[in-house]
Parts: sequence; structure tokens; C-alpha cells
Amino acid sequence: MIQLYIPLGFLGVLYREIKQSLTDLDKMFVLLEKDREIADAPGALPLALDGPPTIRFENVRFSYEPAREILHGIHFEIPAGKTVAVVGPSGSGKSTLARLLYRFYDVTNHDEGGRITINGQDIAQVTQGSVRAAIGIVPQDTVLFNDTIEYNILYGRPEAGHEAAVAAARAAHIHGFIERLPQGYQTLVGERGLKLSGGEKQRVAIARTLLKNPPVMIFDEATSALDSANERAIQAELRSAAANKTTLVIAHRLSTVVDAHEILVLEHGHIVERGSHAQLLQQGGAYARMWALQQSGTDT
Ligand code: ATP
Repeated sequence: MIQLYIPLGFLGVLYREIKQSLTDLDKMFVLLEKDREIADAPGALPLALDGPPTIRFENVRFSYEPAREILHGIHFEIPAGKTVAVVGPSGSGKSTLARLLYRFYDVTNHDEGGRITINGQDIAQVTQGSVRAAIGIVPQDTVLFNDTIEYNILYGRPEAGHEAAVAAARAAHIHGFIERLPQGYQTLVGERGLKLSGGEKQRVAIARTLLKNPPVMIFDEATSALDSANERAIQAELRSAAANKTTLVIAHRLSTVVDAHEILVLEHGHIVERGSHAQLLQQGGAYARMWALQQSGTDT
């Protein structure tokens, strides 16, 4: 008979390791689940890019479930190097636009001509990997890897090294916070390590995106009210990072979109107004009302 002399402490570690592996696997399956919905077209080539591209949404319809269409024929263009902002009530479909551009899902009406193009190339016809390589995404809620904060910042470009991670963290206004952590850049974060607040996680995601330096950026602003001086500084940093990139901003605070090339007001999956900040204020419609509400401080 085999006798087991395994110290109890070791079993505890083993248990945690297995549990963690299962959690990681869980996450992987969630990601795979998403990815299963789309597949590269046979013979798909990588996206061909030469600097910031022009992005077009052409008659885009989308449903997560067949019975409920979320986007009902969306048209807009983000000219090369410009920023388009999307605003509108919760649930109107703003984040869904970002997910489609990152190709988490394919448009539902591809057969009827619905498509998203990057420099004229249909993103459903090029490799998904090349689309994602071209896009830096700062989501509302960033999931951190169970690793060091430096690993999390360098994720996607690990060869960039420590100095680049520090420079990106400075630009994302999270360097000071990291320096004060017990092990600095080597502090473990994520579920197994230090838990970061939503704002701190988002700053890690911003640092990661600044480091990746992609030609296209998607910024899905966090819903929580972030109007401290620090957050304003980040907004300024993001604006300068987005300066020569083709950028889609999903905005909750209108103060962050005033400089956008075009602002789209989305309601129930329809674009109900579009124009520059000044044009939309002049129209005196939904945007002007949202602006007045936010200026009066009764809404965030
Ligand atoms: P918010 O401002 O609150 O972030 P939003 O405008 O970004 O909202 P979306 O997240 O795009 O809204 O969601 C649009 C609609 O799609 C919502 O009604 C939501 O319930 C639905 N939805 C979102 N994700 C899924 C999903 N994975 N499966 C089914 N329905 C979904």
C-alpha cells in the first residue's frame, strides 16, 4: 500500500493552485465561448495597414439573441486619425459597437451588406488576430491577470521592458500608486494578489494600451463618476495618446467628448442625432438636454 506523507501545508498550496487553475480555465472558456461565435473566413489574410486607418460602420445590424435586435442599421465613419464619440442612455448599444469593432462578434446582417471596414477591408474577411493587433481597447471593466503589475502593463509587448512599463504607467497616472506598493512593479495583482479599484484597473489598461501604441483605439469610459483632478489628467493624457489614432470613445461624461470630430447619440440602437458638440448644442435636442443636465451637476 502506498503511504501518503504529504505535509498538510503542501496540500493547502496544491489545493489553491488547482483552484486557481480552474478559475483561469473558467476564464479561458468564457473567452473561447466568445471567440467560438466568430471564425476566420477560409483563406483570410491579415489586415493591411499603413498608419491610422479610416473605419466605417455600414448598415450594421446586430442581435445577441435572434428575437431581440440591439443595433438597427448603424452608419458612421471615423476618418483616419480622428475621434468619434458615442453617447446615449444605458443599454442603448454603445458598448456593443465597441465589441463589434474588436470583433468579439460578427454583424448579424452580413448577408444583406452589413459590415465594418478598416481602410475598406471588411473585418469579417481578414484574420481576427490582425484586427485585434491593430486595436488598443480600454474596456469599462478590465480583468487583470494573476501576475505582477508590470506583467499586466507589458502584456502584449513583454519585450518592451521595465523602463517602457514605467513610462506608460507615468502617462496613465498610476506610477506613483505602484511605487507605494510593497513590492512596487513586482506586486502580484488580480484575484490571487492585490485587488485594485475599478479606476486603478482602468489606468493599468490605459498604460497597457499606451505601451501597445496601436493605430486604432477604443476607449469605453467607466460609468462611475471620475471627476477628480487625477482623472482629468488621465483624460488629457488619453486625448494626446489618441491624437493621431483612429479612436472610438464610448462616453458617459460629455465633458470628455467636446473635442470629438463627430458625436453620435445612440438611443435604442438607433443614431438619433449626430454632429460636433457645437452643432448638437445648437440643435437643442437630446444631446443639448444631456449636456444641460450634466452641467447642472444633477447627472454624471
Ligand atoms: P451602458 O451605458 O450601461 O454601458 P450600453 O449602451 O453600452 O450600456 P450595451 O452594453 O451595448 O449598452 O448593451 C445593449 C443591450 O444589449 C442591453 O439591452 C443589454 O442588455 C444587451 N446585451 C449586452 N450584452 C449582451 C449579451 N452578452 N447577451 C445578450 N444581451 C446583451
